[in-house]
Amino acid sequence: MSNHLVKFNRIKRKFYLSIIPLIILVLILSLLQWTELTTMNRSLFVSLTLFYSFTWLFLYKQIYLKIVELTNLILISCVHLTITYLVVAIKMSESHATTVGEGALWTPLMYIYIFITLPKRKSLFFSFGLWTLTFLIGIFHFQHLSSEAILSIIHYQVATFVYILFLVFARNLFNIYSKTELLEKMAYQDSLTKLKNRRAVYKKFEEFKVMTNKRVSVIFFDLDYFKEINDEHGHLTGDYVLQEVAVIIQECIRQNDLFARWGGEEFIIVAENIPPTSAVQLAERLRIRIEMHSFKNVGSVTSSFGIAHSNGVDSIETLVEKADLALYEAKNAGRNAVKEFDPSL
Ligand code: GH3
Ligand code: MG
Ligand code: MG
Repeated sequence: MSNHLVKFNRIKRKFYLSIIPLIILVLILSLLQWTELTTMNRSLFVSLTLFYSFTWLFLYKQIYLKIVELTNLILISCVHLTITYLVVAIKMSESHATTVGEGALWTPLMYIYIFITLPKRKSLFFSFGLWTLTFLIGIFHFQHLSSEAILSIIHYQVATFVYILFLVFARNLFNIYSKTELLEKMAYQDSLTKLKNRRAVYKKFEEFKVMTNKRVSVIFFDLDYFKEINDEHGHLTGDYVLQEVAVIIQECIRQNDLFARWGGEEFIIVAENIPPTSAVQLAERLRIRIEMHSFKNVGSVTSSFGIAHSNGVDSIETLVEKADLALYEAKNAGRNAVKEFDPSL
């Protein structure tokens, strides 16, 4: 199941768990007027109370979720049609009531339920099917109804039609938003390590262009002899090392620091408001952290670091270039080292 679906189901379950006790409460309140209820209503309310109590229990225990959902859908649809029939055929036709009554207040909730239970097309067919059946019950009784009662039914049908259209619209909008969110996430995320990618770093750089006085340090690092890891242990093991490095480094840096995969086995940290000496100490700590870590099947891996600090004149691009030059120095110095950019070189 996709992450989004798991999240959606979790939210749905929470929603049901909080709303079902309210439904049970309403049913119990109705049952309190026992003597005024018809035998049919009594058995209906008692069965519904029992049904929803079990439903809540199953949801709470997280069992039979799909069955519970679908049974409930069929049940509320049948109850809805029965109540509609009773209202139109008895209350309006025989007792001459002129409005559809307060039972109509629950209709929007029922359509919302249909839309969160059934997938796209099915929810549309089901809703319009139910809407049509409801209307047909009214139409078949039109000859026995007063003009006010007919108007009330038409008003009710138009309103529920608008609810359905609104739900279709809201769901399309929700889909567009979640797709956009997903695409945006994918565009700025490295798929292997789940870190930010180079594009995200460039986006961050755009921010620095409007904030020239920021104190920024760029820490660039690259795993040593990584090609050998791939050659000796295979590409998948190489991938695992990259993922593991991402995790252990993330544990060591501040939340505000931007940590991204620059490409291949190269990573970048953009740290704001940090004194240059602290940035060097941080890089040193990270170097040791990687060296001390035991990578499964591979053992120890080392890395080389290059650092550059903003001097008020540098653009972020030149800062990255300088950090890259410093990294080159660290490699030349024998690797597993941290070097700061030296302007004299
Ligand atoms: P140096 O110490 O000079 O950095 O040597 P190196 O072997 O680490 O550097 P080199 O640039 O020669 O090799 C980098 C290797 O990283 C080559 C490439 O196949 C590998 N690589 C790049 N991206 C990935 C990836 O996503 N997964 C894996 N497993 N390997 C990758
Ligand atoms: Mg390397
Ligand atoms: Mg490299």
